[in-house]
Amino acid sequence: MPLRVVELIAKKRAGGELAANELASLVDGYVRGNVPDYQMAAWLMAVCWRGMTLRETTDLTLLLARSGEMLDLGELGARAVDKHSTGGVGDKTTLAVAPLVAACGVPVAKLSGRGLGFTGGTLDKLESIPGFRVSLTTEEFVRQVERIGLAIASQSSDLAPADGKLYALRDVTATVESMPLIASSVMSKKLAAGAGSIVLDVKAGRGAFMKRVEDAISLAEVMVSIGRGAGRRVSAVISSMEQPLGNMVGNSLEVYEAVLTLRGEGPADFTMLVRALGERCLLTARAATSPEQAAEMLDRAWLSGDGLAKLAEMVEAQGGDPIYIEKPHLLPRTDLNVEVLAPRSGYLQAIDAEAVGLTAGALGAGRARKGDPVDPAVGMILGHKVGDWVEEGEPLLEIHARSHDDVQMAARRLLAAIEIGDEAVSPPVLIHAIID
Ligand code: URA
Repeated sequence: MPLRVVELIAKKRAGGELAANELASLVDGYVRGNVPDYQMAAWLMAVCWRGMTLRETTDLTLLLARSGEMLDLGELGARAVDKHSTGGVGDKTTLAVAPLVAACGVPVAKLSGRGLGFTGGTLDKLESIPGFRVSLTTEEFVRQVERIGLAIASQSSDLAPADGKLYALRDVTATVESMPLIASSVMSKKLAAGAGSIVLDVKAGRGAFMKRVEDAISLAEVMVSIGRGAGRRVSAVISSMEQPLGNMVGNSLEVYEAVLTLRGEGPADFTMLVRALGERCLLTARAATSPEQAAEMLDRAWLSGDGLAKLAEMVEAQGGDPIYIEKPHLLPRTDLNVEVLAPRSGYLQAIDAEAVGLTAGALGAGRARKGDPVDPAVGMILGHKVGDWVEEGEPLLEIHARSHDDVQMAARRLLAAIEIGDEAVSPPVLIHAIID
């Protein structure tokens, strides 16, 4: 007799542990369209409240990964590395780390996600490059990794389709912030994409789904354990998302900042994180045997311009025009770019990254409903970081919007998100811990 979905929802609502066959019928039913969005959303909300055991989380991960093809990249897979962030604001690290690592000769085969909740998504950022195609068939994905050593694609009907469907539902039903749902979503994509080495960037702070460092460490430990159980080499970097990463937030603005960074002109915090994650990728994939060697390899790819050239090569391979990487000022931009001035002098005490992410979403960079289009051009450029001194009346930030009403709305929200005070403060620690 088929399992009744309503009973599975009630079981989780009561804090019960679902058996492997119960989870399988739920995921399979959802992918086939027999379980409707409203029942799946109710079950997801029950998971947010009640959690899942490690056994359930591992089972769910494997079900999501096996909902499509599990790539066996053979010898290429053994050499390949994949990196994934649990999501942040201004987090464009993949756009810089992946090409740098590929330029060091380590293949990068990566399935990414779209914007989720108040965080941005690599796929939405890449799609701000006119013509860029994120939906690749398995064959296209594998061939591109073989040919140029780098591919970043979406889940498709071939690869982890169940995660793609669930991810879009979680985005618009306030069911993102759950450790087992994040762990299974991230790891399903990593297992399906077939890379032998996986580097996780687990974010902690105001602009992350895990607000506390201890929770981010627990999430990292669960993901590392799932990955190692599946025979992969996995390491994790726990990094701060207390304030937005870098200065730019918004889809094309973040591609722009990633390009600047690959040219060596990026903001200090973002550059430092790209370096840390890039080195970790080379070490985890055993392409380097010491941190010093990893740093040297990465610097060579960076300074020679090979990393930037690799990004342009990937853009071209996936249907975009590499001119947007050579001349990033050609990327989509709004006509209305308005500066907001500092209301007083003082030290920047805090920038509420979640509020910045929500404001970017309200300008059109994120989705309110499943399937909504995102605006590639809107966003903001923050002129200062926590700890900086600002003078009253100097430009504090710049808003890129479609209407004057949107500028007003964003200015009000951003001024409330930025705290200026008299006390000198130190910039927040960027890297809390590394699990390897
Ligand atoms: N990234 C993912 O791929 N999934 C999540 O649930 C959160 C971040």
